[in-house]
Amino acid sequence: NWEQILNKMKLEYCSSNISYNTWIAPLTVYEVTDDTVYILVRLKASLEHIEEKYMLPFKVCIAEVTGKEYDISFVTEDNVTIQEKKENVVKKQKSNAIFENANLNGKYTFDTFVVGSNNNFAHAASLAVAESPGEIYNPLFIYGGVGLGKTHLMHSIAHFILENDPEKKVLYVTSETFTNELIDALKIGKNGNELAMTTFREKYRNNDVLLIDDIQFIIGKESTQEEFFHTFNHLHVSGKQIIISSDKPPKDIETLEARLRTRFEWGLIADISSPDYETRMAILRKKEELDGLERYHIPDEVLQYIANNIKSNIRELEGSLNKLIALSNLEKKPIDIPLAAEALKDMISPDKNRVVTPELIIDVVSEHFNVPVAELKGKKRNAEIVLPRQIVMYLCRAMTDTPLKSVGIILGGKDHASVSHGVKKIEHEITVDEALNNTVNIIKKKINPV
Ligand code: ADP
Ligand code: MG
Repeated sequence: NWEQILNKMKLEYCSSNISYNTWIAPLTVYEVTDDTVYILVRLKASLEHIEEKYMLPFKVCIAEVTGKEYDISFVTEDNVTIQEKKENVVKKQKSNAIFENANLNGKYTFDTFVVGSNNNFAHAASLAVAESPGEIYNPLFIYGGVGLGKTHLMHSIAHFILENDPEKKVLYVTSETFTNELIDALKIGKNGNELAMTTFREKYRNNDVLLIDDIQFIIGKESTQEEFFHTFNHLHVSGKQIIISSDKPPKDIETLEARLRTRFEWGLIADISSPDYETRMAILRKKEELDGLERYHIPDEVLQYIANNIKSNIRELEGSLNKLIALSNLEKKPIDIPLAAEALKDMISPDKNRVVTPELIIDVVSEHFNVPVAELKGKKRNAEIVLPRQIVMYLCRAMTDTPLKSVGIILGGKDHASVSHGVKKIEHEITVDEALNNTVNIIKKKINPV
């Protein structure tokens, strides 16, 4: 067809073979849409001339050969790729927005999850639920210790469902967020804004898939359990998928109301336990690959040393690799077993009766608010950092015997007065701000689970 068109162009519109060979022969069809033929011009410099001289002739020839009138558009390789890039960016932004609205971390997908004997049941159950949400195991209840991959699995399910069907309404929250938003809605409601509770209920009930992480943190709160009970029922009767995680199985969560406990046991309960040696090695290798750490050429014996010593927490397993590399960069030392021993020394110490220290408090607060330790110890004064920093000060006071002056030093050299101010501020705030009080209690439990 294109050849026919070119032939026609040659016979009817080109004064000589030379002009045909120069301008027309090199043209190719880039794309045909419903109403436009895009013709690719190889030589950018010839674009203007071609547009001016041959646009109309092409239109006529194409209409004659195909029997249909098309618009003609000449494109060069540059604007083709720019156009494609633009489309890709838009596509990407669109899908990112979907995942962000669902509160998902892009790193936590099935692709990056290593399956081992400790988690293969939970993994298979998650995959089954992701493939047919609301249809088989409802609710899916995943439980296991800290840092063993519960959150990672939940995000993976949500990603999978949204990738299959971007129209699905998927929402991931922690039970802390659920509780605090409920507290706020009730408070605003009391002040006369009746819409607040409606908005809250709509947010949580109008979903195809609701994922609630760390349900252990809503235990013991009557109004929250009550509201969650109704949310659960609402979703469950309409065949919507509910996925819950916890540090314990439902039967062992003492302060959980019986009616919630039975409901949590309706579907499937899957546990994740500590990874065995093979799985720990596989996770370290995966992390090496995903984070582009191959260029450090970490010797096998060093990976084995880490896998042999960090046994019960995958977050620490990953953290130790980061620490090792940071240490090697900082001290300009080769990555070997002595350096690994230095990097791991805090993590290897028996963790059973872990002592609450300011350092531990800083680590937990940093993780909870997703604020780097360096920022907590730094000088920035924006609210996102000041509040966590003051919570550190308060918790050091409440949970350790460390003098305020030392707390200030550990926090990168704050003076006694500002530490004391921070402590008092939080002491006061938690008496008037129930949501903040809830958050502080959750952090306390994370620091000291007993
Ligand atoms: P939990 O929610 O159980 O406390 P997370 O899901 O937050 O644990 O996992 C802690 C870290 O370990 C995350 O960075 C996660 O990506 C990683 N992780 C956990 N399990 C696996 C796994 N099986 N494969 C790869 N990474 C994992
Ligand atoms: Mg988690």
